[in-house]
Amino acid sequence: MLMPNTNNQHVTDKEITAALAPFILQSLPIGVVIFDKQLKTVSANPIAAELINLQANIDASLTAGTNEKIWSDWHKILTEVVEIGKISRFDNVAYRKREKPSVLQITCAPLTDGLNGVIQGGLLLLEDITEKANAQKQMANTERLAVMGKLASKVAHELNNPIDGIMRYINLAKRTISEANLPKPVEYLEHAGDGLKRMVQIITELLEFSRNRYSSLEDTPIDKLLDDAIKFIEPAAKASAVEIERQYPSGLPAVKGGNLFQVFCNLLKNAVEAMPDGGKATISWDTSENNIATIKFHDTGPGFDPANSEEIFEPFFTTKTGKGTGLGLAICRDIIEKYNGKITAQNSPSGGSIFTVHLPLNEK
Ligand code: ADP
Repeated sequence: MLMPNTNNQHVTDKEITAALAPFILQSLPIGVVIFDKQLKTVSANPIAAELINLQANIDASLTAGTNEKIWSDWHKILTEVVEIGKISRFDNVAYRKREKPSVLQITCAPLTDGLNGVIQGGLLLLEDITEKANAQKQMANTERLAVMGKLASKVAHELNNPIDGIMRYINLAKRTISEANLPKPVEYLEHAGDGLKRMVQIITELLEFSRNRYSSLEDTPIDKLLDDAIKFIEPAAKASAVEIERQYPSGLPAVKGGNLFQVFCNLLKNAVEAMPDGGKATISWDTSENNIATIKFHDTGPGFDPANSEEIFEPFFTTKTGKGTGLGLAICRDIIEKYNGKITAQNSPSGGSIFTVHLPLNEK
């Protein structure tokens, strides 16, 4: 291609390339670092400077942000690049710059002089794949949760039948032994029966958890998930004279909702159970500047013992003797962490407890 220059003479492609060469490095949409045979950093474009802690030597620059237990040998890897021309690519390098973590794809390649192919140094290509890696992790977690749910439901299903049989035999034995007037064995069997009842409860809860109403890949507005959870819990709320107040607008952002519905149901169920003699559960919505939604479940029950504020999220911790499984909040926390959010609990100064779901809205 020929282009006229300002003096109306013709400029060749080669001349254009030569004129633009200094800008190529600066304009590339990926990070590029050039280093010499002693691994000294010779030049770096702005994206590279943004992505890594640039130091005098390129091996030190990489070591400064990576975990030394995994990446102790940047010096060796880069020396092989400049000495034997080995090209190396690393797909998922966790890198930390000024406390900010990222995931980088790093390619190390030799830099030859082009005429006789003599290695003059090396090139480092850096691509920020944090978002892609997070999306993949999220997808893997969702799949794992779905598989776990299916597995739990199968196991629970299989256990249901034998437990039913054992319970029937315990009742038969109890009847026969009490006819023979033997109080102790009857008492033992009663304990065995109580244990079995608890197992049945746990299994029922696991089955309920695995029965997902929504596909985990379906986008659902958060207000719809909340409305549906209220509908689900309404009969129990009415039975305990608990009023549920909605303090959230419609048209809220949509999330891949399957598991969040479970969280909302669990929090409402706990609120209702905390107020057996009636009260009010209020669900409110807010968003912060950094696009994190806070969904608060406030009840007018007695609150929880502050000494247990961490334990209540542990599996099998329950204060509902004989009635609770202690799985609800543990499952809630697990699910919300998969959305990269968190759940906190506090007692309200005005009475009752507040469970708050903090949910990042820009997570894909
Ligand atoms: P479970 O409801 O089966 O006991 P959870 O994991 O849902 O299991 O809850 C654990 C414990 O947390 C409950 O036993 C209770 O002590 C406490 N808790 C949960 N929600 C509330 C609430 N809304 N008010 C007071 N205490 C609560």
